[in-house]
Amino acid sequence: MSRGDFFESVSHYFDRAASFTKIPAGLVKQVKSCNAVFRMRFPVRQDDGSITVVEAFRAEHSYHRLPTKGGIRFSRQVDLNETIALAALMTYKCAIVGVPFGGAKGGVKIDPRAASDGFRERVTRRYTAELIRKNFIGPDIDVPAPDYGTGEREMGWIVDTYKNLKMNEGDVYACVTGKPVSMQGIPGRKAATGRGVYYGIRAALEHAEDIKAFDLTPGTQGKRVIVQGLGNVGYHAARILQDDGGAIITGIAEREGGIFNKHGLDVEAVVQHRQETGSVLNFPGAENIDDSAALLEHECDILIPAALENQITKKNAGRIQAKVVAEAANGPVDSDGEAILRERNILMIPDLYLNAGGVTVSYFEWLKNKAGVSFDRMISRHEELIKRELLDEMEILSGQKIPVLQRDRLIEGPSEEELVNAALEHTMIRAYRRIHHFWTERDLPDLRTAAFVCALERVAESYELHGIFP
Ligand code: NAD
Repeated sequence: MSRGDFFESVSHYFDRAASFTKIPAGLVKQVKSCNAVFRMRFPVRQDDGSITVVEAFRAEHSYHRLPTKGGIRFSRQVDLNETIALAALMTYKCAIVGVPFGGAKGGVKIDPRAASDGFRERVTRRYTAELIRKNFIGPDIDVPAPDYGTGEREMGWIVDTYKNLKMNEGDVYACVTGKPVSMQGIPGRKAATGRGVYYGIRAALEHAEDIKAFDLTPGTQGKRVIVQGLGNVGYHAARILQDDGGAIITGIAEREGGIFNKHGLDVEAVVQHRQETGSVLNFPGAENIDDSAALLEHECDILIPAALENQITKKNAGRIQAKVVAEAANGPVDSDGEAILRERNILMIPDLYLNAGGVTVSYFEWLKNKAGVSFDRMISRHEELIKRELLDEMEILSGQKIPVLQRDRLIEGPSEEELVNAALEHTMIRAYRRIHHFWTERDLPDLRTAAFVCALERVAESYELHGIFP
């Protein structure tokens, strides 16, 4: 599979959606075009003193809203087309969940597993300095976040580098999201993409009428799930589907191989086993599947590819037995694979909706950093006072005292994480309703086309409303 296929798949989905709209051709072209790309090469010293030249990219896909926003990927496979395709998906994703940003993406061509901690830190700091130099980062310009191969630690290095080079700016912490909570991050961001995947699957499986056509029963309870990739997105999605959704995680595919148990795998225990042994293989009670890709073809209700793009193609789409493919990763199904899954009546919940939980909570983090105050701090005292008054009144009217512990529990306001999770849930449900409305009311062929049409029309409307700058 050539790496260019991901870019072509995103273009194909976009063009198909555009054919269902009445947007003028020039505007469609503008919405599709990547606005700016920064391609860089810089030297970084390895631990042994030798020098490696690192290639990296940042693509800012759409300036219809600012700042632009999108993760930074560390991978050997990073290239320009992949970065642009991911940036385009970010534009559409933000439009679907109503996050007022344009799309962007960063890619650094290194092997994150082979890199020492010191090398990773030097690469991250140098990459940040390069972005600053060309004005490709800033709270109101372009705000990165984690993606494949990066996490809180890298975001912490980015904010620290930015802070030190831009000391005069007031809101430096808003230059990046997905930071550790101790560095002005937001509780709930780490799990947000996986949690959003759960809410999205739940929303899609809610209505008996819709899913009957796919030979499915409503709800996630008891559904058999296979997950590919036990990283940030895959782990949290599997854990929450199991704990909150009552699903049975029957298979987990990782690089080193896969494991399967039709009675279910305890996700937390698998993670611990992998930490201890360096592999998911030989997990007690599970069958080893040496060819991890073959696990995607096992029988299940929901298949969640949560690793990388182009995992389901014309080579294996005919053998997928899942009834639902829930695209937690970006671009896991290429356009050839998609045509086959559609033909076989397999429901696909598209990436540009399903994994938008990360950018949604990143938006909350950015708002918190811009405001310089956390959400619970703004509302909890006020809510506590109102509840206290209400309970006092109830006690007077009923002539009975509410037990102290119960009273305290009722009065205590929500934590910041509870607020974040509730707002994320609301966003994912509302966004699903919107794309579902497009799907059914406009008689569009599938959810993916509906999601693209929804995004395209929103971005085009924004260009029209704000005018095209001369
Ligand atoms: P991650 O680096 O935390 O985890 C990826 C996991 O996939 C790793 O455990 C890796 O070993 C595994 N993997 C790699 N190749 C594999 C293969 N061939 N078979 C099985 N497993 C394999 O990355 P992540 O942040 O979880 O991102 C995963 C996907 O989700 C990417 O497509 C990313 O763009 C997308 N995504 C991530 C976020 C986020 O907030 N992190 C948000 C939206 C979308």
